Amino acid sequence: MNTSIPPRLPLFINGEWIQSKSDHWLDVTNPATGEVLTQVPCASHEELQNAVTSARDAFLTWRDTPIPTRARVMLKYQALLKEHQQSLAEILCEETGKTIEDAKGDIWRGIEVVEQAANVASLMMGETVENVANAVDCYSYLQPLGVCAGITPFNFPAMIPLWMFPMAIACGNSFVLKPSEQDPVTPCRLAALFEETGAPKGLLQVVHGGGEQVDFLLKAPDIRAISFVGSVPVARHIYQTGTEYLKRVQAFAGAKNHMVVMPDANRSAAIHHLVGSSVGAAGQRCMAISVAVLVGEAQQWKSEIRDSMAKVQPGHWKNPQSDYGPMISAAARERVLEYIARGKAEGADCMLDGSVVSMDGYPDGNWVGPTLFADVTPEMSIYTDEIFGPVLCLVNADTLEDAIHLVNQCPYGNGTSIFTASGAAARKYQHEILVGQVGINVPIPVPLPFFSFTGWRASFYGDLHAYGKQAVRFYTETKTVTARWFDSDIEHAQHANMTIN
Ligand code: NAD
Repeated sequence: MNTSIPPRLPLFINGEWIQSKSDHWLDVTNPATGEVLTQVPCASHEELQNAVTSARDAFLTWRDTPIPTRARVMLKYQALLKEHQQSLAEILCEETGKTIEDAKGDIWRGIEVVEQAANVASLMMGETVENVANAVDCYSYLQPLGVCAGITPFNFPAMIPLWMFPMAIACGNSFVLKPSEQDPVTPCRLAALFEETGAPKGLLQVVHGGGEQVDFLLKAPDIRAISFVGSVPVARHIYQTGTEYLKRVQAFAGAKNHMVVMPDANRSAAIHHLVGSSVGAAGQRCMAISVAVLVGEAQQWKSEIRDSMAKVQPGHWKNPQSDYGPMISAAARERVLEYIARGKAEGADCMLDGSVVSMDGYPDGNWVGPTLFADVTPEMSIYTDEIFGPVLCLVNADTLEDAIHLVNQCPYGNGTSIFTASGAAARKYQHEILVGQVGINVPIPVPLPFFSFTGWRASFYGDLHAYGKQAVRFYTETKTVTARWFDSDIEHAQHANMTIN
């Protein structure tokens, strides 16, 4: 695989890397240095239509390709991703600023989905019931839909595309990927490695751009299903427009994830995980903990949380001491700084202020230091809004009941966790909480790919979730056959002339 970054990123259409004819190009910058890494085109409608049409053509043969052949493509893809994990991670670091360990994790969580996609045959088994009436049997098959499309966010440029196209393609579909315009180099590398598997041309297309290009895909008649991951307003737009155009849509959206800390929790483990899960990856994770609810005596732990957080420092990915990287863009940094200013103005106690960071050697990076607010109340904008930065809010609660009430009144439902030594408290929490992914002494409970990624409420629009069995349902249609064979035909079968034309 060629690991240099071209000055202008190509589109991947019908198995060819082609230079867009667009006159609208966007800069892709290194967020640690501000340097322009490459440019990405906003594809023309003609180019987008070519991608959709060649995906539709590729589907016509791929849908009839035996499942073991489809699965073997994924086995090969898994091996290629593992072989190139280091170089992929380095590209990912350059365009996102993530630490190398984080970048490898981003790729690894995607590889695990590819492994699951290689197991697609057992996931695609239908159901059978014999003798639903006299000598009548009933059975179902899962058949692929056709062309599916994926629109992905900046924060996991490897994992999230890999949540989508391997499962869709293993199920027998073809796929058009529109990655984030902020870090599209890694997804292009994923496509280049997919090409190396020898899979038929056109199964995977990569197109680039922003809202206009996405709107084209949402309305394209040949696209049957849309997978989206990104912010709440865009997720709503995708869900509403995609369904208006009669497509199947799954839209994963933003979050505000709470960790409830009970006073009986293992104190050092709870604080360690709270700090890591709130400021790790600069808080740019949809499952980051952005609120800690300190119950009762756990409110005495605030200064220890601050001291632990103050030791965590951002930095360049090539510096092994860096705990996390920069914000993805200067605009994202400005937005986080505005929230920090607003939190102070709203009366929260800013115990640690990361708004001013000086970084030797990287004066143009989008740095924000770890920031901690205490005495945050539910009306404050730093509590209600997804900040998506290294900012943790501490909220007080008298009882577990109060903590559950607080989490359940928050509109988001992506992830949550409870730290406690009590099985009864954990059991009550997991049962009553209106959040789709719950960790018990586990801060970021992202399910492995044999389960599905099951955000709820304002964090998800749709019915069937990403990867696992739910993804197979999302990317297939169920066909149910009711069959009768007549006993009287057996005699004929035994004596018929076996003439083969
Ligand atoms: P974003 O919504 O800005 O962009 C996501 C994608 O949508 C990009 O490909 C972008 O080009 C496209 N897009 C942007 N504006 C559009 C518009 N007006 N119309 C159509 N398409 C448009 O999100 P982001 O900033 O890249 O990612 C961060 C967000 O993603 C956060 O809110 C985070 O919580 C969320 N996220 C959610 C999950 C999850 O599983 N729930 C996972 C990762 C990220």
